[in-house]
Amino acid sequence: MSWDDFAKHAKQSADWGASYHKTLRDRPVRAQTRPGDIAAQLADTPPETGTDLGAIMADFEEIVMPGITHWQHPRFFAYFSANAAPASVLAEFLTAIIAPQCMLWQTSPAATEMETRMMDWLRHGLGLPEVFRGVIQDSASSATLVAVLTMRERALAFRGNIEGLHGQPQLRIYCSDQVHTSIDRAIWVAGIGQDNLVKVRTTGDLRHMDPIDLEAAIAEDKQAGRIPAGIIAGTGATGMGACDDLEAVAAIAKKHDIYTHLDAAWAGSAMICPEFRTLWTGADQFDSIVFNPHKWLGAQFDCAAHFLRDPDLLRQTLAIRPEYLKTHGADDIIDYSEWSIPLGRRFRALKLWFLMRHYGMEGLRTRIRNHVRWSQALCERLRGEPEFEIVTEPILSLWTFKVAGASDEETQALVDAINTDGRIYLTQTLVDGQKVIRFTAGQFDCEARDFDTAFDAITDIARRA
Ligand SMILES: *Cc1c(COP(=O)(O)O)cnc(C)c1O
Repeated sequence: MSWDDFAKHAKQSADWGASYHKTLRDRPVRAQTRPGDIAAQLADTPPETGTDLGAIMADFEEIVMPGITHWQHPRFFAYFSANAAPASVLAEFLTAIIAPQCMLWQTSPAATEMETRMMDWLRHGLGLPEVFRGVIQDSASSATLVAVLTMRERALAFRGNIEGLHGQPQLRIYCSDQVHTSIDRAIWVAGIGQDNLVKVRTTGDLRHMDPIDLEAAIAEDKQAGRIPAGIIAGTGATGMGACDDLEAVAAIAKKHDIYTHLDAAWAGSAMICPEFRTLWTGADQFDSIVFNPHKWLGAQFDCAAHFLRDPDLLRQTLAIRPEYLKTHGADDIIDYSEWSIPLGRRFRALKLWFLMRHYGMEGLRTRIRNHVRWSQALCERLRGEPEFEIVTEPILSLWTFKVAGASDEETQALVDAINTDGRIYLTQTLVDGQKVIRFTAGQFDCEARDFDTAFDAITDIARRA
C-alpha cells in the first residue's frame, strides 16, 4: 500500500468511526451472535495473494461487526467501562503511525519525559502527595504483579531473583475476600503460592478488611516463623465496590514493616473529584497504588497508572542492564523498562496528554460526577418499585439489586433476558453467596436519557417474565 492510499483509507476509517459512534444507540449493546458464528466465516488458511483494502473493509462490516459487543455504547452498564474518548483515539492513531518503542529514554526521549509529566499530572489530579513517582503499565494486573514481586524481593533482601524460592522463608501476603482475581494470579506467578495469600474477612457497609483479623493473621504468621511480606488493599473492588480502610491498613503495615499496594483500578479515576476521596483516606500512606485511566477516565486501553513511593525498590526487583541497553553520557534519565516486566513499551503517555488537555480536569470531573449522580438516581427509582430490592448500596456508580425473593436461577434468567433484549447490557455477581444483578455506569458519552432507558428495560423485562 502506498502512503497516499493509506491517507485515503485512513480518512474513510475516520468517517466510519464518526458514523459508528453517532449510530451506536441504534445497536444492541451485547453481540447477539452464537459461539462459532464468526469463526465459520473466516478462512482456515491465510491468503497467498493480497486483497484490495475496500474488500477487506466490506468484510469487516459484514463479518466482524455483528460479533462486537459495543463497549463504547452509552448504555453499557456491565463490568466496568473501558472508555476510548475521541481525543484519546486520535493520540493512539498517531502512536500507531509512529510506532516508537519506549523502553529506554534514548529510544524516544519525548515518550519517557512525557510519561513522567503525565504521571505527575495524574498524581496532582488525584490529590496524592508529591513523593509519589509514576510509571504507566499496560494493565492493573501487571502493576499488581510487579508490586507483589517487589514485596517478595524486599522481604527476601533481594535474594529471590538470584537464588530462586526453594529454601527461602515462607512469605505471606494479605488481602480482603473481595479482591480481584488479578491478585490471586500475581501470587501464583510470583511463586508465592495461593496458600500464602491470606484472605481476611470483610465487614461493614463498605466491606473492608477487618483490621483486628488482619493483625491477628499477621501475628500468627510471625509466631510461626513465616514472613509477612505485603498487604494488598482495594478501593472499589470489582464485585460490589468494596473499599478497605486504608488508614487502618497503613498503620498495621507500618507497625510490622510490610509493603503495601492499593488496587483502585476502577475507582481511582473518581478521585479526581475531591468529594469522593473519603473512600480512600489513607491512600497517601501506601507504597504502591494502581488505577486504570483506561477504565473510567477516558484513555483508550491499555493504560494503567502506577504510583510508587520508592521506585528504587521496584527497580532493584526488575532492572537488568546489559551493555546493549546502556545509555552512556546521560545522567538523570529514566529507562521505564526497568519499572515493568516487558522490555518493549508503547507510547502510552500521548493519549493522556491529548485527553487531559482537550477535556481539562474539570471536563473529566463533570463526566464522572454525572455518572455517579445518574446511576444513584436510577437506584432510587428502582428502590421505589415494589418488586425490586437493592442488595448493596451505591459505591460511586456501582450498586446491586434483584427482584425480591427471586432464586439465583431466576436472577440469572433476568440478566440474560435483559442482555438479549439489547437496550442495555449488565452483568451478575455474587454477594454473600447470593446471585444479584450488578449495575455500574461510566461510559464516556452516556446521558441522563440512557438511564431512563435502563429503567424501562429492567422493569419491562422483569414484569414480562
Ligand atoms: C479491572 C480491574 C482489574 C484488572 O485490570 P486490568 O487492567 O484489566 O488488568 C484489577 N482490579 C480491579 C479492582 C479491577 O476493577
